[in-house]
Amino acid sequence: MKMFDPHIHMTSRTTDDYQAMAAAGIAAIVEPSFWLGQPRTHVGTFEDYFLSLVGWERFRASQFGIRHFCTIGLNPKEANNPSVAPGVLELLPIYLEKDGVVAVGEIGFDDQTPAETKVLEQQMQLALDFGLPVLIHTPHRDKKAGTVRTISVVKASGIRPEMILIDHNTEETLPLTLDSGCWAGHSIYPDTKMDEARMVALVKKYGTRHIIVNSAADWGVSDPLKVPKTVTAMRAAGIADSDIETIVWSNPVSFFGQSGRLDLGKQPIDQTALWEGNSVLRGGQKPLVEPA
Ligand SMILES: [Zn+2]
Repeated sequence: MKMFDPHIHMTSRTTDDYQAMAAAGIAAIVEPSFWLGQPRTHVGTFEDYFLSLVGWERFRASQFGIRHFCTIGLNPKEANNPSVAPGVLELLPIYLEKDGVVAVGEIGFDDQTPAETKVLEQQMQLALDFGLPVLIHTPHRDKKAGTVRTISVVKASGIRPEMILIDHNTEETLPLTLDSGCWAGHSIYPDTKMDEARMVALVKKYGTRHIIVNSAADWGVSDPLKVPKTVTAMRAAGIADSDIETIVWSNPVSFFGQSGRLDLGKQPIDQTALWEGNSVLRGGQKPLVEPA
């Protein structure tokens, strides 16, 4: 089955991961911009990060036959840093116009501070200006209150709820998200957030409408194969293949397709190609080129 992982931070992952993901059926991914695990010290490092998301990382995915898209935004944690936040907000319009950028994100609440609220509202306005969907992160601490606040900001923004994906849902927040009319993402993690068995139970209870799953794999303990592993768990639990396909392909395609920038033609592998003179291959490796 062809699969889409609509939230994965490949910049922190290896070529082994790309190979395993492609072998498991992952044909397309969305990489949201986020923080680095430690605070950035100046605005320029955001700019190089955004450039790598639309450039090198997109190329790297293509070398394994995977379509790579990204979302651009000021992440919730660094919205609290007054030495970078205003400068990053000024940069965003340049990047929101680029090919392969399919939403504003991931934005939202972390500690639920006034600074986060202001930066979230400003970025929702950018989404309206650029006609882009929005990927919203919900906080790990006090998640239910954070989700309620997120939904009230969405309502006040004037953006249609169909243009919003609220991510990292749990049993507690999913009914709120679905009632709001927004799409509902679930990050399947080795230990926390959500796991395969709990996800199966949610699909049995709520069906497939507006339901999306992702690995949210990054530089921490996480697993880039959680989407295919969730497919296996859903099949074993007797969920129909057509419903599974809705969740792991059609739903993310419908949501991010609203950007008008989701080119999903097969990504042909050509490892003789270079990006600014650079290749993913090392000396002596034979490039893989798929027949046209
Ligand atoms: Zn993330």
